[in-house]
Amino acid sequence: MDFLKEKIRNVPDFPKPGIGFKDITTLIGDGKALQEAIRQMRQLFENDNVDAVLGIESRGFIFAAILAHEWGVGMVPVRKPGKLPYKKLCENYELEYGTDSLEIHVDALKEGQNVLIVDDLLATGGTVQATAKLAERLGANVVGCCFLVELDFLNGREKIQEYRVESLVHYSAE
Ligand code: AMP
Repeated sequence: MDFLKEKIRNVPDFPKPGIGFKDITTLIGDGKALQEAIRQMRQLFENDNVDAVLGIESRGFIFAAILAHEWGVGMVPVRKPGKLPYKKLCENYELEYGTDSLEIHVDALKEGQNVLIVDDLLATGGTVQATAKLAERLGANVVGCCFLVELDFLNGREKIQEYRVESLVHYSAE
């Protein structure tokens, strides 16, 4: 099996019956696996002149922060409601299990900046779609969306067809 895939733990029926939760704590807890995941993400977008890496709360922060550090660019957190202290923009979205909204600080990105959006997992695509809208409302240029895991059977990439989408590990069924 794929080196990265075998480090991810599947937890059936979490957080509710029928959901196969992809637990990435087992991957990030393994130094070689974490390093390999970052190496692959970095390689995919190495030539895209990324000015900022946008991480989605909360597991997206892990990968976004390391990538930003490696490239020497800023990391921008996109957070759940009520967490960011300054003026912000908000987007509502639908989740695989419920609805929610995401926020970004109004001065987090500058007009024309190239941003890479990073999260741990692409499911239905609502989360990343809302994030891309936030980035574009601030005038940024989304160069791509990068995920550790993609649940292919939920067709999340259909919602973000206008962007380049890359995932390191794919699941074709629960
Ligand atoms: P979605 O908006 O449906 O693409 O959901 C993506 C977000 O929900 C990501 O931030 C994931 O961390 C989380 N998520 C959704 N489904 C799962 C799953 N089966 N296992 C782990 N995380 C999930």
